[in-house]
Amino acid sequence: TNSNISSDTSRNTVLFERARALIPGGVNSPVRAFKAVGGTPRFVQRAQGAYFWDADGKRYIDYIGSWGPMILGHGHPPVVEAVQKAVLEGFSYGAPTEREVELAEEIVKLVPSIEMLRLVSSGTEASMSAIRLARGATGRSKIIKFEGCYHGHADALLVKAGSGLATFGNPTSAGVPPEVVQHTLVLEYNHIAQLEEAFALHGSNTACLIIEPIAGNMNFVRASVPFMKRCRELCTQHGVLLVFDEVMTGFRVALGGAQSVYARSIPGFKPDMTVLGKVIGGGMPLAAFGGTRAVMEQLAPLGPVYQAGTLSGNPVATACGLATLREISKPGFYEALGERTRSLVSGLTRVAAQAGIPFCGDSEGGMFGFFLMEKLPQNYATVMTTDSPAFNRFFHAMLDKGVYYAPALYEAGFVSSAHTAEDIEATVEAAAQFFAGR
Ligand code: PMP
Repeated sequence: TNSNISSDTSRNTVLFERARALIPGGVNSPVRAFKAVGGTPRFVQRAQGAYFWDADGKRYIDYIGSWGPMILGHGHPPVVEAVQKAVLEGFSYGAPTEREVELAEEIVKLVPSIEMLRLVSSGTEASMSAIRLARGATGRSKIIKFEGCYHGHADALLVKAGSGLATFGNPTSAGVPPEVVQHTLVLEYNHIAQLEEAFALHGSNTACLIIEPIAGNMNFVRASVPFMKRCRELCTQHGVLLVFDEVMTGFRVALGGAQSVYARSIPGFKPDMTVLGKVIGGGMPLAAFGGTRAVMEQLAPLGPVYQAGTLSGNPVATACGLATLREISKPGFYEALGERTRSLVSGLTRVAAQAGIPFCGDSEGGMFGFFLMEKLPQNYATVMTTDSPAFNRFFHAMLDKGVYYAPALYEAGFVSSAHTAEDIEATVEAAAQFFAGR
C-alpha cells in the first residue's frame, strides 16, 4: 500500500465498487486499475482538449490521451464533425467503402515502406496477424521479440526470456501453453552481441523479428541506431522479415513514424512490415498492418494466409482516423508538438535538479518518458531497477494537483497539440512543489 494515496474521491470510489462487482478488477484493461500505484482509479466523465474531468468533477491535465491515440487532444472539432457525419451514414456495413480506400491511400503516402495494408480493430489483432503473415510468407515458424516490448496479448507474444539462447521463451500469462511460445525467442533490447548470436543460431528458421523501435511499454527506451542498423542487416542477410510495431510510435513520434526517425541516421532504412494502431484511429477502434506488396499479397483472399474481421475498416472509425491524419499532416504540426513535449521534459528535469532529485527524461514528437534515476536506461532490466515507491508518491502527488500521468512507471506519456504552454508550466510547477516537499 501507498502512504500518499489521494484523499477523498467519493464518486470515483462508489463507481469503482460497482465496477468491481461485475468487471474483473473493476476495469476493462488491467493498467487502468491503479494496481501498481495503489488508490482509486479516476472514472472519466468527459474530456475536452488537454483535459478530462473525473466523476467528482475534478479536472486533470491528461498525459495519457487514451494511451496514445488522442494526438489532437479530446474533441478536436474537425474530427468530431467527420465522426458525426459518418455516424448518420451508418455504423457498419460489412461491405467495402471509399473511406477505407482513402485511409489506405493516406497511410501509404505517409509511410513509404508500406505498399499495401489491411485495416483491423486493435493493435493486438494487427501484430498477431502480421506475425501469422510473416510466418506464412517465409514458411518459417520462429519469431524474435525483445524483453520489455509489448505487441498486444496474442498467445505467442505473452512470453519472457528462457534460460539461454538455445531455449525459447516461457509464458508470462496463465492460459498460454508452453508449446504455444516454443517458437518465440526473447532477446535483450539494445544488446548487439546477443542479437548476432541469436541470428547465427536461429536466423535460417526465423520468420520475423518484431520490435518497438522506440519502446513505450517499458516507459521510453530508444533502440540505439547501431542496434537498429544491425537488426536490419541481420534480417536482410537471413531472409527474416523486420516488423516494426508502430502501434504507439506511428504518427506519434513523427509523421512518418519511428521508421522515418531511424531513416535520418541510417540512409535508406525501411522495415519490411509495419503494425499501426492508436493515432490512425484517432480514438476509435482501428489498427492496421502493412508492408511490401509481395508479402501482403500472401493474405486472403489473394493468398493462403487467413485473416478477417466483422468490424474491420469500420466506417465511423475510418472517418475519425482520416480526419485525424489530415490534421496532423498540416505543415509544422510535429515541430510544434515536439517542441511542447521537449519543454515538458526539460522543465521536469530542471525542477528535479533544483531539488537534488535524480531524474532524466527523453521524448520524440508527442511521446515522452522520464525516470527517477540519473541516466536513461537501455533495456528492461534497468528500467525495472527504478525506485517504484518514489514513482508512486510522485504519481499521487501529481494526481492530487490535477495532473494525470500513466499510473505505472513502465509506461510512456503523451502530449497532444491541445496542450498549451500554460498547461506545461502548471505541470512543471506541480512537480516543483512535490520535489520541494510541498
Ligand atoms: N503494440 C504496442 C507497441 C502497443 O503499445 C500496444 C498497446 N498499448 C499494442 C501493440 C496493442 O494494441 P491494442 O491495445 O490496441 O490491442
